[in-house]
Amino acid sequence: MTRNLQIYELSIRGVMDAVHDPQRMALAPSVRQRLLFDWSINAEDMGSLLVTDARGNLVLDSRLWPPRPVNVADRDYFQVHLNSPSAGVFVSRPFQPRMTPEDKSIGISRRLSAPDGSFAGIIVGTLRLTYFRKLFDGMNLGPGGTLTLLRTDGTIIMRRPYEDSSIGRDISHNPSFAPLLQGEQGTFFGVAALDGVPRLYSFRRTPDYPLVVVVGLSVNDVLAPWRSRAWLFSALIAAVDILIIVLSVLLSRQWRRRMDMERHLVLMVNTDGLTGLGSRRALDDAADIEWRRARRHGQPFSLLMVDVDHFKQFNDRYGHLVGDDALASVADCIQRHIRRPGDFAGRYGGEEFAILLPNTDAAGASAIAETIRAAVQKLHIENADSAFGELTISVGVVTDVPDAGGNRTFGELRTFLRAGDEALYQAKRAGRNGVASLGAAAMAVATT
Ligand code: GH3
Ligand code: MG
Ligand code: MG
Repeated sequence: MTRNLQIYELSIRGVMDAVHDPQRMALAPSVRQRLLFDWSINAEDMGSLLVTDARGNLVLDSRLWPPRPVNVADRDYFQVHLNSPSAGVFVSRPFQPRMTPEDKSIGISRRLSAPDGSFAGIIVGTLRLTYFRKLFDGMNLGPGGTLTLLRTDGTIIMRRPYEDSSIGRDISHNPSFAPLLQGEQGTFFGVAALDGVPRLYSFRRTPDYPLVVVVGLSVNDVLAPWRSRAWLFSALIAAVDILIIVLSVLLSRQWRRRMDMERHLVLMVNTDGLTGLGSRRALDDAADIEWRRARRHGQPFSLLMVDVDHFKQFNDRYGHLVGDDALASVADCIQRHIRRPGDFAGRYGGEEFAILLPNTDAAGASAIAETIRAAVQKLHIENADSAFGELTISVGVVTDVPDAGGNRTFGELRTFLRAGDEALYQAKRAGRNGVASLGAAAMAVATT
């Protein structure tokens, strides 16, 4: 656009030079006409190039010879040069041409000076606003976009979307106009003077003319793709959030179930199902731990081996299920009579139980053994095949203690356990329903 204005101004200068050249002005009008105006100026939309005298009467007209009898003294593009010799290039407000009233135009004018410097008239090129309108219409700025050509005094020369009423309108008082004067170019956010739509504006001053081109993109248009994408993203994020919440609930539930299961499994592995005492596995582990602990602390460690007397016959007579119940009762009895925190009772196998008594000497262990034996007999579970008439147990007691030099009775856990078996065997041999201690070759059998 600026290029076209420059061409226009060059034409004006050319005509000016010619006007000041008597030789060229002396040429025959038809020749002179072609010489002066023979270029694109006559193209469509370009209006005409006119020269006036000091009173505003046309003296040269690019379109006609002789010039039309028109006076332009009332036009701003004439008045400005009449009143101010230093006005330079002037861009007029939009006006209705006298010859072609349907086409609003602007005029770009310069002063003509007489040789003595006095005002001699103007040269003005008129430009139909349809030229800008076509130019503007060719630009795609989105449905809410605007393109405005303004004079720097705030007069609208052309605007897209086109509205006849906005041409020539003065928006200098509007807040969105002020930023346009801040610099040669810039960008700002504002609400349009004409339609109240919020827009992002970018403006640029034309280098040699008091004109500003302003492009406004509707915030809605600019943000529309962003909005739909943002909506999509927030929907995605929400979906992900929900998924994460659901997953974490599921996982924590799973986790809890797993923990419960594991606890249950550990319990199952470590507990004997029939008696509720420690399982054989738990018994082995506990024996190992307490064996070492006793050694570390130099403490005595006792073991009771318990076996139900004549239990095969009991089973045979009363049935296996009753046998199971009897075993559970014996186990319960054992459990009730071991009270110290480190004490541990487990099912050694079949109808045999082992009781670990950490930090318990031989006398203490024998006392506990006797208590349990008596307690089981007191259950008064009938056993017709027994000499006692009721269900009894035999208990072997063995104690591992350090001597004065710190040497222990047993070298390893296995021999300790085997000694327990041996003590139990002795209790059986002594007539059952008794306690036998293996130690100092002494064996006491208690019988009631
Ligand atoms: P003793 O006095 O010499 O110990 O005689 P006993 O009959 O108890 O001898 P033995 O150890 O040979 O027999 C043990 C019997 O215990 C064998 C089996 O029928 C029974 N028994 C082992 N485990 C269970 C069990 O879990 N339930 C039941 N009901 N009986 C069992
Ligand atoms: Mg047995
Ligand atoms: Mg037995």
